[in-house]
Amino acid sequence: MIQEIAPRKLDNSYKPRDPKNGDYVFSYSGSQIITKPDRTFFRYEECSHSGEYIYLFAIDDTAFYLADLHSLPHAVMSTQEIRTYEPKYLGFAAITGWQLYGWINDNRFCGRCGTAMIPDEKERAMRCPSCGNIVYPRINPAVIVGIKNDKDQLLVTKYAGGSYHKYALVAGYTEIGETIEETVIREVKEETGLDVTDIEYDRCQPWSFTSTLLFGFWCRTSGSDEIHMDKSELRLARWADREEELPTGSDASLTSYMINKFLKGLA
Ligand SMILES: [Zn+2]
Repeated sequence: MIQEIAPRKLDNSYKPRDPKNGDYVFSYSGSQIITKPDRTFFRYEECSHSGEYIYLFAIDDTAFYLADLHSLPHAVMSTQEIRTYEPKYLGFAAITGWQLYGWINDNRFCGRCGTAMIPDEKERAMRCPSCGNIVYPRINPAVIVGIKNDKDQLLVTKYAGGSYHKYALVAGYTEIGETIEETVIREVKEETGLDVTDIEYDRCQPWSFTSTLLFGFWCRTSGSDEIHMDKSELRLARWADREEELPTGSDASLTSYMINKFLKGLA
C-alpha cells in the first residue's frame, strides 16, 4: 500500500528546520504536482532562489518543504499518476504534501474573524493571531467494506462517478455521531440494501488523495443477499467468486489489498 515505505520511515513530528541541500521541495497547482522537466522532484539546492519554504515533514533524515516553484522550468504530474510513482516513498511523500498544501490553502484566513492565519511554531496547525483560533489538518475517517455472503462470494462494486473505473468495494465517510462500525452498517445498507453482521476490522490506510483515514472491515450478510444498488453512488454491484479475474487498481490502495486478499483465499 502507498504508505508502506519501509525501511524508510515517515517522521511527522513537527520540528520545523531550515532547508538544507538534499532536502526535497514540493510545489502544487490544484490537483497537479510540479516536478522538474524530467519528472523527478526538486531538491533544495536546485531551487534556492524561490522564496518562502514551509516545512512539511521528514522521511528518515530528509526534510520536505512546500514552496512556489512555478517560475522554474517544470513539468506537471497528476495526483493519479503519483499512485504508481517510483521510488515509492517519494510518491507517498508527494501526495502527503499535497494533502497539507490543500489544508494550508483552505485555511489562509480565519473562519471565525477573517484575519490571515499563520503556521503555528510548535505544532502542525494554522493559528489566527487575532482571535487564537487553531485549525489542525483535516483527516476524514471512512470505511472500505469487504462483504461476503454464505456462498463464499465477495460483493464488488464500480463507482458511478469520479475517475476510478476498476473494481472497488463498498466505501463511505463516517457521519457525525456514529462509530466506525455504525458507518459500515449504514454505508452497506445505503449502497446495496444489505444487512450485515460479524464486522471485523482488518487494517487502515492514510489516503491523502481525499484527506481520509480509511478503515478496512470484513463482514457477512445477515439475511438475504439480494442486492438493491444505489444508482447515484454505484454503477455496478455484484457478487464475485474467488476464482474470478478482477482487475483492481495498483497495489497502492487498501481496496486492492482487500480484493486481492479475498482472491488469494486469505479473507
Ligand atoms: Zn480569528
